[in-house]
Amino acid sequence: MSKRKRRQSGRCLCGSVRFVIAGPLRPTVIACHCRNCRRFSGGLFTVTAARKEHLVITKKGSLKWFKSSKYNKRGFCGKCGSSLFGVSDQWPFVSISAASLNEPTGLKLAVHSWTEESADYWSFDPKLPRRRGPSGLGGPPENLEQ
Ligand SMILES: [Zn+2]
Ligand SMILES: [Zn+2]
Repeated sequence: MSKRKRRQSGRCLCGSVRFVIAGPLRPTVIACHCRNCRRFSGGLFTVTAARKEHLVITKKGSLKWFKSSKYNKRGFCGKCGSSLFGVSDQWPFVSISAASLNEPTGLKLAVHSWTEESADYWSFDPKLPRRRGPSGLGGPPENLEQ
């Protein structure tokens, strides 16, 4: 596990929404195939995660929240449409679009989740593990230094 000293930052396509991560990010990326993530992101929703309190919105701009299910809401830019965040009332972490992060991210694609809902046009990288349901990766490690 590499130690991260640089603050990770990201933004939407138009730059109206900007954020920094004031704590550790999970070093792995989940490619989520669930129907909600596909519709939300327009593809696979590729996400890392941070503790909720570590997501600092530095420019709120056109940030909008959509309640996508009973316990979940999704954050996006109301101006350019970028898919940015996923938050669950049942989870202490926020999912953060890996695609919205400024590079280098230092992250690694680790698993395909919810593959039982994969689109019929999709084909897989055979090297990566697939989970029919949740990724099982959780949030950032507790012991990871900022
Ligand atoms: Zn935008
Ligand atoms: Zn999903």
